[in-house]
Amino acid sequence: MAKLIDGKALAEKIQGQLAHKVAELKAEHGIVPGLVVILVGDNSASQVYVRNKERSALAAGFKSETVRLSDSTSEEELLNIIEHYNQDSAFHGILVQLPLPAHINDKRILLAIDPKKDVDGFHPMNTGHLWNGRPQMVPCTPAGIMEMLHEYEVDLEGKHAVIIGRSNIVGKPMAQLLLDKNATVTLTHSRTRSLPEVAKQGDVLIVAIGQGHFVTKEFVKEGAVVIDVGMNRDEDGKLIGDVKFDEVEPIASLITPVPGGVGPMTITMLMEQTYQAALRSVTKYDY
Ligand code: NDP
Repeated sequence: MAKLIDGKALAEKIQGQLAHKVAELKAEHGIVPGLVVILVGDNSASQVYVRNKERSALAAGFKSETVRLSDSTSEEELLNIIEHYNQDSAFHGILVQLPLPAHINDKRILLAIDPKKDVDGFHPMNTGHLWNGRPQMVPCTPAGIMEMLHEYEVDLEGKHAVIIGRSNIVGKPMAQLLLDKNATVTLTHSRTRSLPEVAKQGDVLIVAIGQGHFVTKEFVKEGAVVIDVGMNRDEDGKLIGDVKFDEVEPIASLITPVPGGVGPMTITMLMEQTYQAALRSVTKYDY
């Protein structure tokens, strides 16, 4: 039977520490971390994510601003707003909530964000730093997973980590972070052959595909550490992961639940990175 990785409890612990660090930053340097979240359109899931980010930023003692724009906002208007916040020293983090409406080129938008304020870690410059083994701003979900593995003392040195899903947001940056810890990494995707056999080689198995209960016990090595990133709704509207928890939990050594696993850590890392950006702004950090 596996031990649960409690992402909610760890997120609360890190947020508590963060509140102290924010108070210290204010006392020593007179600055408060500032986060602006820009939402274009009325996607209901995005609205929930943005509200949660706003709430967490305020709870951490940040200056928090949300810019809500209509669906008809043009790319040029959005670029102008980003440039305004790039120049505004009261804001250390800029996040543009994805997905954007189809008429806006999201690659152009992400490129426009000052890499020093790119708290989502999606700017190609930050991707480059990550691949060069000098991570600065790292996509928040893999960053949160690394915190969880550290907290639960998972030794990655020489271990085989298998990732299912190769998105820019989760799978790819996850691979590099695990390589940095000297794991041997296999990054799999929808065209991978014999996926259950490949996955079953993983001492650590990280699943981020977006298909509810896809990973059954046939994919999991006895004693593996299983991290479930997936967030899906079942036919009753209940939130479920990509891993069939009831089947996998008895053979894993450590496993994240859904909800209460990876999700709370993602938003916590966003706050931590905004704090780090604010800290760098006063410590003459060589970016
Ligand atoms: P994407 O849709 O961007 O990527 C999905 C990846 O999974 C792709 O690489 C795809 O392969 C692969 N894939 C899809 N189906 C299969 C399959 N049957 N077998 C093997 N690989 C497959 O998704 P995201 O990475 O953005 O998100 C994945 C999941 O994680 C979603 O449920 C999302 O909601 C959740 N999520 C949760 C977060 C959290 O904070 N908890 C944060 C971010 C995401 P290919 O490249 O070949 O198409």
